[in-house]
Amino acid sequence: MSGLGKGLLAASLAKLLSASGYTVAPIKFDGYLNVDAGTINPFKHGEVFVLDDGTETDMDLGTYERFLNASLDSWSSLTGGQIFQNMIEKERQGEFLGQDIQFIPHVTNEIISWIRQKDDIVDVTLVEVGGTVGDIENAYFIEALRQLALSCDRSDFCWVHVTLIPVLAVVGEQKTKPTQASVKTLQGMGVQPDILLCRSEKPLKLDVRQKVALFCNISASDVISGHDVPIIYEFPFQLLEEEILTSLFNKLQIGPKKLPTLSTWRNILEKIKNPIGEVVVGIGGKYTALGDAYVSIVKALTHAGAHLGIEVNPIFIETTNINEKDIDHQIQSCDGIIIPGGFGYRGIEGKISLITRLREDNIPFLGICLGLQCAIIEYARNVCDLENANSTEFAPDTPHPVIDLLPSQRTVYRKGGTMRLGLYPVVISEGTNVHAIYGEIEIKERFRHRYEINPDYVSQLVTKGFTFSGMSSDSSVVHIGELTNHRFFVGTQYHPEFLSRFEQPAPLFKTFVESCWEHKKDKKK
Ligand code: GLN
Repeated sequence: MSGLGKGLLAASLAKLLSASGYTVAPIKFDGYLNVDAGTINPFKHGEVFVLDDGTETDMDLGTYERFLNASLDSWSSLTGGQIFQNMIEKERQGEFLGQDIQFIPHVTNEIISWIRQKDDIVDVTLVEVGGTVGDIENAYFIEALRQLALSCDRSDFCWVHVTLIPVLAVVGEQKTKPTQASVKTLQGMGVQPDILLCRSEKPLKLDVRQKVALFCNISASDVISGHDVPIIYEFPFQLLEEEILTSLFNKLQIGPKKLPTLSTWRNILEKIKNPIGEVVVGIGGKYTALGDAYVSIVKALTHAGAHLGIEVNPIFIETTNINEKDIDHQIQSCDGIIIPGGFGYRGIEGKISLITRLREDNIPFLGICLGLQCAIIEYARNVCDLENANSTEFAPDTPHPVIDLLPSQRTVYRKGGTMRLGLYPVVISEGTNVHAIYGEIEIKERFRHRYEINPDYVSQLVTKGFTFSGMSSDSSVVHIGELTNHRFFVGTQYHPEFLSRFEQPAPLFKTFVESCWEHKKDKKK
């Protein structure tokens, strides 16, 4: 079921294999019929993650990248919609002339050839199947994997199944039935798992491990306890302790090329466990009911804090009906505030009112995409006196469209994959705060947006004190804005959180957390 931790397990296993000297390429399969995650509501499914090549993916791809400290491409993200789109396109091209196109072998072959694309360049392909065993959505995908396993040497394929071991509060016992039922369903599909990762609150008891082994037709040493860890970055170490690599290497008949010490990882983890202090960072948005909607931002804050030895506690601020009293309260309780990306008008006026206070009171502010756009609207209205300035996304008839579509976007009607998406260069002006943060004059960051700062208003904003410190490589559009005389007031059209990694935090987040820390110390004086 969702939320069980398959993504975390897959990312941790990938990390352990890579730390053992193997090249690993992960694939995440999602059964939904959307061609990509770009059109899915973050309320329901968590954040939409973006890769360098502009693929809009499920948030698990973010976990892989953050763990592996590597950038993935569109091959790593596969959906039911993508498979069927490929099949139908091939059918229209006449590739299957004269045949009935069937789930077996046509769809399954399509999946197998997708998975095998990188066989020659990587040692291990790690495929994570989203959803639950027994679902219609992933049944044909599991069947494809069964066929793939059958066509391989027995030692070239390993099945790891993640199951749940709940504890019934009344009896206080770890119950194995859900695991047994799930394994039976899988066996009914012709699949015998090689390793079971049993998710539970507490470590698996010995008798529970033995019972699972007996009923699931598996050796007890291949039943791995995947109990809760206080910090998710400890999970690879828990798996090491549980000797999952021994089980995996036995099955694959390989051994480690080097010892997976994960020393950098361990050092950062130590800093997380022994922080010198803590800061509270507010995240002001409208998808706050589901924390997963801003997962990369929360992770980027953790990474930045971990490297600085500062614990960052994020709190979500719902900006939809926020009043002056709420704003006062938030300004008091937070050491800095992030306004993240988003779409649509709801919550915008609340964000703008918050930004006014952050700007006037010299409180750290990081605006991401929509957050930068709100900062521009705020500055236009309150400093440049452009009454009712707005974005044409929210007010198509605004007298001052400070945020607007570029002419190239005005004729785009299809929604899927048509925004500015993926990695683009950003040219940074020397002498700005952002230049000091990055220490470079050209960087590359990931974008996901349709609207831009209207070039017609740039000079007015600059005259009134706004600094545009990052531009597109042809200087035609603004990518970063800042207030140079402020403690930390930076907005980016791109999403710096998408490139933050546990072992390599995003520079903007690091400096932002540092200024939150400074601000907190100053508040106490
Ligand atoms: N809705 C805005 C746009 O499309 C901002 C998008 C975002 O924050 N990612 O430009």
